[in-house]
Amino acid sequence: MNEDQLLQEADRRARSYVSGADQRRVFPDTREIAALAGFDEPLPKRGFAAAETIALMDDLGSPATVASNGPNYFGFVIGASLPVAAAAERLAIAWDQCASTEDGSPAAYAIEKQASKWLLEILDLPRSSAVAFGTSATACGLSCLAAARAALLARKGWDVVQDGLYGAPEVKVVVPASTHVTVRKALQVLGFGWNRVIKAPVDDKGRILPEQLPELDANTLLVLQAGEVNTGEFDDFANIIPRAKAARAWVHVDGAFGLWARAAPLLRDLTTGIEAADSWTTDGHKWLNTPYDGAMAICRDPQALARVMNSDAAYSSASADAQKNLTLEFSRRARGIPIWAALRSLGTSGVAELVTRHHTQAKRIGVALHEAGFEVLNRVVLNQVLVRGGDDAATQEILRRVQQSGSAWFGGTVWQERPAFRISLSSFRTEERHVDQLIDLLVRIGAKG
Ligand SMILES: *Cc1c(COP(=O)(O)O)cnc(C)c1O
Repeated sequence: MNEDQLLQEADRRARSYVSGADQRRVFPDTREIAALAGFDEPLPKRGFAAAETIALMDDLGSPATVASNGPNYFGFVIGASLPVAAAAERLAIAWDQCASTEDGSPAAYAIEKQASKWLLEILDLPRSSAVAFGTSATACGLSCLAAARAALLARKGWDVVQDGLYGAPEVKVVVPASTHVTVRKALQVLGFGWNRVIKAPVDDKGRILPEQLPELDANTLLVLQAGEVNTGEFDDFANIIPRAKAARAWVHVDGAFGLWARAAPLLRDLTTGIEAADSWTTDGHKWLNTPYDGAMAICRDPQALARVMNSDAAYSSASADAQKNLTLEFSRRARGIPIWAALRSLGTSGVAELVTRHHTQAKRIGVALHEAGFEVLNRVVLNQVLVRGGDDAATQEILRRVQQSGSAWFGGTVWQERPAFRISLSSFRTEERHVDQLIDLLVRIGAKG
């Protein structure tokens, strides 16, 4: 089989996988998982034929995948892959560009520049901000927090890039007590130490209580949240950010999925005031429905990000806006390409429709489950529905039975010290009939009384 035939064969299998997304089990059964033992082979001395390897991957691998690229997956906020984003990714893989700099790939550079511009426009953030396309909201958040740390310390006359952290003035870090675990991870990696991070008290929706916000000063890095992971709620940006700015703190917003509310007129008010922050992160691979790994670090002061992320060398120097000087990666693929393709194909109205549809679906599920006797724990302001059964044992039993059913999947959580489950709406493939099926399934499995 030549290269062309092999790519056709891989594509044939990929197409067959995607077209069956509606029918396959959402979580594989034990037999399909057991068959994965077939991958346990000795490292071959002489390699196998290429087509044989692709066949093995498909034959054993595909049945044991989680159908998160299908319509019946309601776990986390994972999003499917829009066909145009997946197709753009395929072509970009064929290009195999090292999209570090304009020299590395003029095409990738131009497309990512365009994606940056559109992104700032659709999210309505300061148009001169730097946009870095990284692997995840975790990595992009880390980049923004590193930029914040350097900028805050620079004001104190300390150059953290050259002189490091030993002996540096202390930066006060404040996060919502409900902050996402990956913000914690990024802060820990940066050497802030979780025990020294101040956790601001939050209300029963996971939002910082503005009246209990710790004192902020010009040494403070304040992290806020657009889209709390259980409730989907937003911090009160319009109240908190002006106070933080008056104190000269740096404000970073974790908006891994929630920032997209800004692109939907119906939900935009949730984000009022967010544009006054200093940096923001969001994902493409969640609500925008692009493939993994695609996320964005957005920084109001492009120099602040470029300064900590610079990786110029004598053999590889580039402009401050080269992606290798904004992201953690040096060699990298152009993660902005599928994002560009998604934005170009959806347009502002398509993104608004996608986000609004999921919100409407989530609301409908909330109402139906409440009427069926479930305890719906949140207001469903976004795309998350947080639910409990009659008691803790019932909640866990419902979760187990849904996950084993193969016809839908969502995950559990602990909310206010008791088990609950989280239903997230984020796949462009999820239509009203899939929502009906999910409601039917839950009502059948678990209504109390
Ligand atoms: C998913 C998520 C993250 C981390 O995003 P990754 O792209 O998975 O690294 C951060 N914050 C929130 C609120 C999230 O939901």
